[in-house]
Parts: sequence; C-alpha cells; structure tokens
Amino acid sequence: MNSTHPTSEMVRDVAPSAIIQLKDLTVVYGSGVGAVTALDSLNLDIREGEFFAILGPSGCGKSTLLKVLSGLLDATSGAAFVGGKKVDGPNSEVGLVFQAPTLLPWMTIRENVSLPGKILKIDPSIISKRADDALKLVGLANFADSYPNQLSGGMAQRAGIARGLVQDADVMLMDEPFGALDAMTRERMNLDLLDIWSKSRKTIVFITHSIGEAILLADRVALISPRPGRLFDVVDIDLPRPRKIEMMSTPEFGKYTSQFRDYFRKLGEL
Ligand code: ADP
Repeated sequence: MNSTHPTSEMVRDVAPSAIIQLKDLTVVYGSGVGAVTALDSLNLDIREGEFFAILGPSGCGKSTLLKVLSGLLDATSGAAFVGGKKVDGPNSEVGLVFQAPTLLPWMTIRENVSLPGKILKIDPSIISKRADDALKLVGLANFADSYPNQLSGGMAQRAGIARGLVQDADVMLMDEPFGALDAMTRERMNLDLLDIWSKSRKTIVFITHSIGEAILLADRVALISPRPGRLFDVVDIDLPRPRKIEMMSTPEFGKYTSQFRDYFRKLGEL
C-alpha cells in the first residue's frame, strides 16, 4: 500500500460526536518507589453538548484530569484530545471554573469576568460584549460594576462561572464549583447551572464528590476509583429534563444513589 494516504482516507483522531477523548491517559507523579499513579489508563469519550459528571472520592485524580485537559500538566503516557486536537500545552479551548471563585478584590465584577479574555488577547470590544452576555446569563447584569466584597457566596460563584464563559470555549471544566456553598445555595446553583448550560449549549465536565449532585445534573456519570485513579463505569442518568430538586426523592433517583453508594462502599470509601 502507498505510504502517503490521500486526505479523504485520513482517520480522524476523534469520532465527530466526541468533543473530548481520553486515550489510555496515564499520569504518574514522581518516579521510583515514591511514584504515585494519579490516573491509570483512562479511556473515555465525552460527547459534544453533554453534561458529564466525574464522581469520585478525594485523591482519585479528578484535579489531575482537569489539569491535563486544560494543558497545565502533561500526560505521562496516552493522550487527551479536545475538539479533535491533542492537548499538548495551555489550552484555550476550555473554560475553567474552580471551587473558589478567587475574584480579584480591586477589580469590578465585569473586570474580573473579562480577565481570561484579556490574558488571551481577545479584541476588547468582543470581550466586553461577551462579559456582558455572560453576566446576564448568570443573573449578575446589575452587579457588573460592583466589587467582589459586595457579592454573596452564591453570587461570587456565578461570577466565577461567567468568567469561565467569557473566552467562549465549547467546553467548560468545573472543579467542585459549589463545594464551598451552603446546602440551600448549592441546590439553587445546581438548577441555575442547568439553565445556564441549556442556554449556552456548552459541553460541561463537572467534577464532584457528591453523589446526589452528579445524578441531579448529569447526562452521564463516570465513576472513578482512587489510587490509582481508574475508570470503573460510565452510567447513563435516564431522568427527564428539566431536572427538579423534587426528583431527588423519587425511586428512580434513589436507584442511582444506591448503585453509586454500593460501588463506593465496596471500595471502602463510604
Ligand atoms: P483529586 O482531585 O481527585 O482529589 P488529585 O488529582 O489531586 O485528586 O490527586 C490524585 C493523586 O495524585 C493523589 O493520590 C494525590 O496525593 C497525588 N498527587 C497529586 N498531585 C501530586 C503531586 N504534585 N505530587 C505527588 N503526588 C500528587
């Protein structure tokens, strides 16, 4: 066979519907006897537009995975692909939302939200429009000129989400974004996030160690075991949308909860 394939025969790295693909992704920290395998041969496809939750106890490699996807950390072997491109450096194709919104206190909310756009050197008029759109989407349009100390915890986290949206990446990576909020604010933020997701049409990869939160939000949930982080299963959450808090007390929801609890109990994590 001829070694130079015509373009039409070239195989795509990623199936068209998979916006994120992990291929035998392995990350080892350190070397020798002290080496820690944080992620062990992960294979996973995340579909375009889906709400995908990654559920696992502390230490199972969730943050490591986000670092690899955002290009802040190299894989030891295997690879991660976003939008068909192998991630091999800082990746502006993903927006990030962290557990703590870490807003800069001397900047207004609009300036904070605009920051990633400035860092990426996006045209200021485009950033300004996107920041205003993002603030509207998260319900903070009236607080654009306020300062972080004027916002409640839930509002600050909304600003963190708006900041993640401003670079207009197709993928939003969210690392336990509501972990520091009180239970009632967290419930409201979960529903608000679903609304933001359906309006923004982004793919969301949502990291959590809350079983209920993963079931309430996600289309599919990946169960990851710790030390080394291994993918145990990917479970379809077959609950209707729009999701509602009341669904958490239905037998269907309870079935998923029991299934996930059993799994973590067997691992000795519960
Ligand atoms: P999670 O976010 O799920 O809590 P991490 O991705 O932070 O997990 O860590 C996965 C594993 O890798 C843990 O066992 C952790 O102790 C280890 N680890 C994380 N970062 C480092 C590092 N820089 N050096 C050595 N081990 C690390």
